[in-house]
Amino acid sequence: MLGLKRSPWVFDKLLARKQSKGSDVPAMSITPVSVKRIDSVLKIEWKDGHRTEIGLADLRRNCPCAECRKTPPKVVEANDPLKLFDDQPIALVGASLVGNYAIQFNWNDGHSHGIYSFDFLRSLCKCSNCTAPAGDGFTR
Ligand SMILES: [Zn+2]
Ligand SMILES: [Zn+2]
Repeated sequence: MLGLKRSPWVFDKLLARKQSKGSDVPAMSITPVSVKRIDSVLKIEWKDGHRTEIGLADLRRNCPCAECRKTPPKVVEANDPLKLFDDQPIALVGASLVGNYAIQFNWNDGHSHGIYSFDFLRSLCKCSNCTAPAGDGFTR
């Protein structure tokens, strides 16, 4: 854990420091320059200027760990109209950078195995550019 307790949702400084070192940073544009949680949405700004917004419930459902791929997690959304139980809506309780290629999220359901690579986070982007039918709508 990289001292993120102080400001768990803002990776800017950490990333800036890593990127200024240059050599150990992948030379690709799929690197976030800013990762913030705003309410129940994770907002990522990428090096290439692209912006991604991912709902926390989506993020949790797409957890890439073996456990969740085998048994999809039960996710309670904050605005779930069919919420019959007193389960807590899904929320992030922490996050940390993994090397310089991924982010690990800690969830309020106790789960923290998922390591979301930057590529993977970018693939979850649902903006009109990223969801455009195949063609050259792919921005680099
Ligand atoms: Zn998982
Ligand atoms: Zn996008």
